[in-house]
Amino acid sequence: MRPVEVCDYMYTTLPPSLRGDSHHIDLRSDTVTKPSTGMRRAMAKADVGDDVYGEDPTVRALEERVAAMAGKEAGLFVPSGTQSNLVAIMTHCNRGDEVILGDDYHAFVFETGGAAAIGGVVPNPVPTDQNGGLSPDDALKAIKPNHTWFAQAKLLALENTVSGQVQTLESMNALCELARQNKLLTHLDGARIWNAMLATNQPLDTLAASFDSISTCLSKGLGAPVGSVLCGSVDFIARAERIRKVLGGGMRQAGVLAACGLFALDNNLPLLLHDHDNARRLADGLSDIDDLVVHAGDTNMMFLEPLEADRQKLVQYLADNGIRVGGPEVRIRVVTHLDVSATDIEKTIDVVHAYYKLRPNQRGRGI
Ligand SMILES: *Cc1c(COP(=O)(O)O)cnc(C)c1O
Repeated sequence: MRPVEVCDYMYTTLPPSLRGDSHHIDLRSDTVTKPSTGMRRAMAKADVGDDVYGEDPTVRALEERVAAMAGKEAGLFVPSGTQSNLVAIMTHCNRGDEVILGDDYHAFVFETGGAAAIGGVVPNPVPTDQNGGLSPDDALKAIKPNHTWFAQAKLLALENTVSGQVQTLESMNALCELARQNKLLTHLDGARIWNAMLATNQPLDTLAASFDSISTCLSKGLGAPVGSVLCGSVDFIARAERIRKVLGGGMRQAGVLAACGLFALDNNLPLLLHDHDNARRLADGLSDIDDLVVHAGDTNMMFLEPLEADRQKLVQYLADNGIRVGGPEVRIRVVTHLDVSATDIEKTIDVVHAYYKLRPNQRGRGI
């Protein structure tokens, strides 16, 4: 008889350094993780009901758990971070209102213009600085005077982490205070807020305190296959539930998915620190290469900037050696996650070094 319980237990509790897939290393994103055996077991055991009738106890448990962690009254389980942000924006804003947000932020760049296309909400982007922050001056300038000619700003939407960079509590609080003074509501896109939480050793409710709503993803570093939880006041969540329904996000026996989120909070949350260690080790291991600029972050994400001539070739060389990274763009995105081990990181360091050792002899012959 296969000692299933022992295998599963080991798989879910071993540090990532002792797990991982030795022949394929996928550093493109922390969304590429596959549900572990333990997580699949939790799905199989989940108690479920029809959540559109409000009858799924596992969904309810997840919503209550994340809301309590975030220090908010209520939570709403939604299929994706994209839908979570859209639901939040559409709940806070009416058609023709403006949402002020960073010009690099996910909700502006990577969500297919949903706020405008579906919600009729006008995005008003302000410059995102090198560290992913917004300047209070820029945010203030974006708020138009109360005049019949102008769309009125209703919401300030911030993000943490931004491309893996932790936003300080002080800067977030200052921007939220400015929003409040100008009668704006505030939303935090906290897809990777869990990384910020672990990196700063601050509880979620502290990081979320100044916001009217917060969206968190379970399918990034936490390793669940699907799902986000949007949190806010009871009134906000009641209105958000209607928007989720109109967007097609009402799910039936979704407890099998919510169970993954609960499992992830119990088992995978502390493991984010391994991802941060792995990212730091990788950045350190590549820092001695002259022709490669390493933009290290505070958490599980970094960007590599090779010379233009190397861009395509480096990404191809890595791929030929079983390592997938983002790009090839000016900056190649590299993300650590649950399914990347410390051994994978050492291999990646070796392969990048091998590319740069090989390169002078091979120049012009196209490796
Ligand atoms: C991934 C991500 C989202 C969207 O989440 P999906 O589940 O992929 O739709 C939103 N915001 C940020 C900052 C993200 O990284």
